[in-house]
Amino acid sequence: MTKTIELQVNAQNIADIKKGYPLILKEAVLNLDVLKEEGSIIHLIDRNRKFVAKGYYGVQNKGIGWVLTKNADEPIDFNFFESKISRAIERRATFFEDEETNAYRVFNGEGDGIGGLTIDYFDGFYMVSWYSEGIYKLKHHVYGVLDKLVTYKGIYEKKRFDTKGQYIDQDDFVQGAQGDFPIIVKENGMNFAIDLNDGAMTGIFLDQRDVRESIRDNYAEGKHVLNTFSYTGAFSVAASLGGAVKTTNVDLASRSLPKTIEQFSVNGIDYEQQEIRVMDVFDYFRYAKRHALKFDLVILDPPSFARSKKYTFSTAKDYPALLMDAIAITETNGIIVASTNNASFGMKKFKTFIETAFNDAGSKYKILEESSLPKDFRTNRDFQEFNYLKVVILQKTK
Ligand code: SAH
Repeated sequence: MTKTIELQVNAQNIADIKKGYPLILKEAVLNLDVLKEEGSIIHLIDRNRKFVAKGYYGVQNKGIGWVLTKNADEPIDFNFFESKISRAIERRATFFEDEETNAYRVFNGEGDGIGGLTIDYFDGFYMVSWYSEGIYKLKHHVYGVLDKLVTYKGIYEKKRFDTKGQYIDQDDFVQGAQGDFPIIVKENGMNFAIDLNDGAMTGIFLDQRDVRESIRDNYAEGKHVLNTFSYTGAFSVAASLGGAVKTTNVDLASRSLPKTIEQFSVNGIDYEQQEIRVMDVFDYFRYAKRHALKFDLVILDPPSFARSKKYTFSTAKDYPALLMDAIAITETNGIIVASTNNASFGMKKFKTFIETAFNDAGSKYKILEESSLPKDFRTNRDFQEFNYLKVVILQKTK
């Protein structure tokens, strides 16, 4: 029998945990020295040494572990993982039945009861992402549960917990059959080429599914589209299929060029009619202003932080300036899709960025649509910090 590790956390964190907050905050821990090995199961106790919850020790960029249960008698074992994962699968029954979509999130970390673990499904392949060494130590349970509960072609994994914050290229294949990547998945009838064996990113961000659908169905017809930070051009594929006249795609990474050509091609769109530019977005804005280019639909979905040779960009600081650049090259009555995945601020703050940018630009706008994570990215509604995605679709009215 191993000794129970008792972790004392401060009154605030205890109160939050009792209300369902799942994260164990480092700054709330009073006896950090008891934490030795990641993956250990720990008991959280209050200052009277009374049991509050059980969790695991695993260091992420935020927090040092996650609460798993508030029931002292519930063991953290195979059955625990099975109950959480099977419940998550049940909740996504409509996705499994949807013939137009075969790429979605099956398990969303703390929103499904186990922080630090996500499982995505891509047409028969499962991709398991591990966000700390601690949760990775418990992987045998997860792979065992998948074996028991689902049929699959193959399982891949992404380890997202190396210390340097950099993803180390490695063999991500776990078990089953190896995929012949890229494979083509379907999303609301659109095709997307994805590769589970090509670094941390697969070629498509599943959390933007609803936004892609809305762009295709509501905002693209007849439009000239500028897609900034375009990555593989997924928003542009949606816009083209929705009847956009032309898309211009701008991304700094050279891999974005072949990947964007591929996404257009698997949808039967002639990529030569599109513009795909490997360049810095901020340089592109200057170029567009110099040439008096204007767009009817501008998509802004930057990474939370970006550093290029010339610029550093942080959404928390620089989003208003980015928006001002976009406003300057958007036609009157044109649409801007403003998106951010920065979890450090909420929708309210994001809207103040929009307000500031339009004021400073001497322009006016109207919000047409607001959205957040789609249903398969289940989050606890009481704690907005886990609902990181914020998308505002607005019209520049003046
Ligand atoms: N909007 C995309 C995802 C963007 S991921 C989608 O929906 O699929 C962020 C992208 O921003 C990456 O591809 C990265 O190469 C690009 N990027 C980061 N900094 C940049 C910059 N200064 N200029 C252009 N692209 C940049």
